[in-house]
Amino acid sequence: GNMIPSGMRYESTASDFQTSDAPVEKYEYQAEVSRLMDLIVNSLYSNKEVFLRELISNASDALDKLRFLSVTEPDLLEGASELDIRIQTDQENGIITLMDSGIGMTHQELVDSLGTIAHSGTAKFLKALKDSKDSGSDSNLIGQFGVGFYSAFLVADKVVVSTKSSKSDKQYVWEGEANSSSYIIREETDPEKFIHRGTSIKLHLKCDEKGFAHPERIERLVKNYSQFVSFPIYTWQEKG
Ligand code: ADP
Ligand code: MG
Repeated sequence: GNMIPSGMRYESTASDFQTSDAPVEKYEYQAEVSRLMDLIVNSLYSNKEVFLRELISNASDALDKLRFLSVTEPDLLEGASELDIRIQTDQENGIITLMDSGIGMTHQELVDSLGTIAHSGTAKFLKALKDSKDSGSDSNLIGQFGVGFYSAFLVADKVVVSTKSSKSDKQYVWEGEANSSSYIIREETDPEKFIHRGTSIKLHLKCDEKGFAHPERIERLVKNYSQFVSFPIYTWQEKG
């Protein structure tokens, strides 16, 4: 069967997630990530819209990486040469989906990137938090340092990432929920959900943040951020 990476708990709970018959792997977040998630989920930070800036900047980074590699490996672009970001709003269900045709993530990269703190911005945030004696300052720190991917949990209570790396022939789904110390990864087996390459991030908005799925609100925010991004950003709405 499949190789199970060491250090993880393997549970055959596919039916709990009722998505496919591929095995569901359950992982615990690194302790620092759990702490960070707690902070973000319970934060009184009011400038929650920064989540969109963080996710667009990750999409842009992923597209940059692909563009860079494609200079020496033009085959990487085969089948999907467009390098862009697409943002879909589904107001009825309170869902925002960001899609990029960037480099994507392998299974290992998913575990390393969305389960541990490997990147500088968030590490600095945690250090600043540790250094600050004032427990009420976490809200300011979120804005000051940016909390990257995990800022999705400022507005979402469930985040589903589906990603296909150009280095892998498999597509993986990462699923995390606010107030949980674990996340799951499974292989995507539904051909209808296959993407050629890149990453889609689906945010199931918290009840009181569903206003972010309002197309005009997203378009206004995107307009602000897009001037710093060198790839086209398209927005459209799900018709109910
Ligand atoms: P940073 O961008 O500072 O590295 P983030 O928390 O924003 O930190 O993202 C963590 C990592 O997750 C990124 O470095 C990248 O490896 C991975 N990642 C996040 N979003 C994407 C994406 N859309 N495509 C590919 N990789 C991504
Ligand atoms: Mg980032």
